[in-house]
Amino acid sequence: MSTVNERTASVDVATGNHGSLRHQNITSILRLIYRDRPISRVELSRITGLNKATVSSLVSELLESGCVRSIGENQSERAGRREVLIDIDPQKTSAVSMEIGIGNISVIAADFAGETISRSDVTFDLNLTAGRVISKAARMANDAAAEAESLNGKVAGISIAVPGAVDIETGNVLFAPNLGWRDVPILERLKAKISHPVLVDNEASLAALGEHFFGAAKGLRGVLYISAGVGLGGGLIVDGDIYRGSSGIAGEFGHMTVDIGGKPCSCGKNGCWETAANEAALFSEYRRLMPRAKNVADRSQLIDQILISSGAGEECGIKALEFIARPLAVGIDSLIKAFDPERIVLGGPLSSFSKFLIPMISRELQQRRIFGVDHCAEVVAASFGPDAALKGGVARVIRSFLRTPAI
Ligand SMILES: [Zn+2]
Repeated sequence: MSTVNERTASVDVATGNHGSLRHQNITSILRLIYRDRPISRVELSRITGLNKATVSSLVSELLESGCVRSIGENQSERAGRREVLIDIDPQKTSAVSMEIGIGNISVIAADFAGETISRSDVTFDLNLTAGRVISKAARMANDAAAEAESLNGKVAGISIAVPGAVDIETGNVLFAPNLGWRDVPILERLKAKISHPVLVDNEASLAALGEHFFGAAKGLRGVLYISAGVGLGGGLIVDGDIYRGSSGIAGEFGHMTVDIGGKPCSCGKNGCWETAANEAALFSEYRRLMPRAKNVADRSQLIDQILISSGAGEECGIKALEFIARPLAVGIDSLIKAFDPERIVLGGPLSSFSKFLIPMISRELQQRRIFGVDHCAEVVAASFGPDAALKGGVARVIRSFLRTPAI
């Protein structure tokens, strides 16, 4: 196995005569076409180091399989020669992605380029047993898969995001406190009801992957995704992949202690980061500064009020956001020191305040640089808002397909 250079750190090219090596090379070429699409055979040869005849033969096989297609000529060819460009065929392969939320289930089907082609959302009673919720999810997944195959190509897999820690080997939900689930063998139960390949993952990890694969941190190797809302959580992309830790709880950033003996947290500890920088902290500071808001109990109404107030430059809105921006920045700064990411993506419900929060957080981070060596990673708003985990599920299905295409 030889590893090629340039922008190909994640693409290994195998050399040798064995059939499986040929399959590995086809997989590498397909992944490159997906990543750098559209791309010419000459460019594929240059990046992989494989000779042009080998690349042409591998591309022919991919064209026959229907995964990729020719899309005409490269008009800006510098050598003056026009070359046929190869692209993926979005309509030959589909992915289904579902998110089980707190009392709601959303499912989308997407084409091979990741574009959504259908969507469905339902609510469920939080008193339902895990078994009933899983049965409902399986029915929705099967319906979405059938629809995807009638609108687009064959379904490569179905991803299910859950709001809890997942054992990625067994597919068991270890705990999902907001659903009241503990040790639920969700993958095993879904596999019994769904004929397509199924995978289960944590929603914040998938959201990080969605932003890395399609969105605000596309293609970056090290990404910190922060989801800020009722709590604080997130996901880490390390070397281009989800970092899960040894027991699947990596990303539970909100429960890092930032104030020993501080406010009690839902996890049972005190002084967790999320107690200082979540929605409740923002709302209570806004109500303190704007007594008229004391009687507004509706969450989305409060968010709208704070958006209008800060948009108009009113002190109460701005000050309330500053109240959570500083602790948010302090925690992000610690994570920067631990992981040194290239970019930080702010997602979750509080990202609707990104326009205000990001400059505040960035200023604080600048002041916290040490020794002048840390590059002060850029903070950006998430591209997909509440749909980041759904997009991440599509990304996981597509990535699995790219690693082991059925060719
Ligand atoms: Zn906690």
